[in-house]
Amino acid sequence: MTDVKAEHVLHSGIFHPTLRQWQSPNVEITVNNLMYPIFVTDEANAKETIASMPGVFRYGVDHLRKMLQPLVSKGLQSILLFGVSKHLKKDYVGSNADSAENPIMQAVPLIRQWFPELLIACDVCLCPYTIHGHCGVLNDDGTLNNRASIERISEIALAYAKAGAQILAPSDMMDGRIGAIKEKLAANGLLNKVAVLSYAVKFASGFYGPFRDASQSAPKFGDRKCYQLPPGSNGLAARAAARDVAEGADMLMVKPGLPYLDVVRQTKDAHPEYPMFVYQVSGEYAMLYHGAQNGAIHLENVLKEVLLSMRRAGADCIITYFTPLILDMLHPKSKY
Ligand SMILES: [Zn+2]
Repeated sequence: MTDVKAEHVLHSGIFHPTLRQWQSPNVEITVNNLMYPIFVTDEANAKETIASMPGVFRYGVDHLRKMLQPLVSKGLQSILLFGVSKHLKKDYVGSNADSAENPIMQAVPLIRQWFPELLIACDVCLCPYTIHGHCGVLNDDGTLNNRASIERISEIALAYAKAGAQILAPSDMMDGRIGAIKEKLAANGLLNKVAVLSYAVKFASGFYGPFRDASQSAPKFGDRKCYQLPPGSNGLAARAAARDVAEGADMLMVKPGLPYLDVVRQTKDAHPEYPMFVYQVSGEYAMLYHGAQNGAIHLENVLKEVLLSMRRAGADCIITYFTPLILDMLHPKSKY
């Protein structure tokens, strides 16, 4: 007589690494599940550290090739570019978001040429280029003008598409922006050449602090709470995803990741036909980095656990600043 019934023995299925992998068939991490966010600054020869995100840099266009080369050779499949405007003049409509001086407009054609296989997504937003730092065009009373905002956002998106971007990722959360971008793409014969990754479910989050340092895009007054979702609102999250699906989004995103995994699952279940992206944002990066730095956690172990939690919740692709480290983790040196 044994003390456990045979069908309740779990340990017999997990005593070897390959057995353990078979127990998690759908939650692997591969290069296909990663997108690397990169800050591109308008100072071509700069490589700047970001105080709140150790290990992450703002790169000038001149540094991109050297930085990307080893990552691409380790299998990097896709990147997400954010423009940083240090010297460009800011105005009320973000004129420099799509001017010839814009670092994204300059970087995209070069990256296409250097790494033809690498898929390039571009963040589309006004906030780095506007005087007020908000993600749209404002009325005189400081409120958002939705119609003017989505017209301007779709213009910028079209400019990035013409520069060679294969994925447009509008991060502003304005109503109607996906539809406006799709219309512009259609009018210019680009509908079947450019995908739209919707920041469909973006919460007004305290985890964005380091990003605003990195992209130097904190709003000059007010906050973004009237266009980003309140943290408790799974109802609005569902409506936001449904809205962007109806407008023609190709892929959906939930942002941040770890505090919203229930929303990732809810969104994936509601729209299983759509690839699901999760953005592991700057504050999540900093939290893991500093936790490991201070000896509280083992970075690689905990990072892997977090990534698997996102995959388990339904993420098909994770946008993460840890991508270079993960690429190294995926290529362990042989023991033989
Ligand atoms: Zn913005």
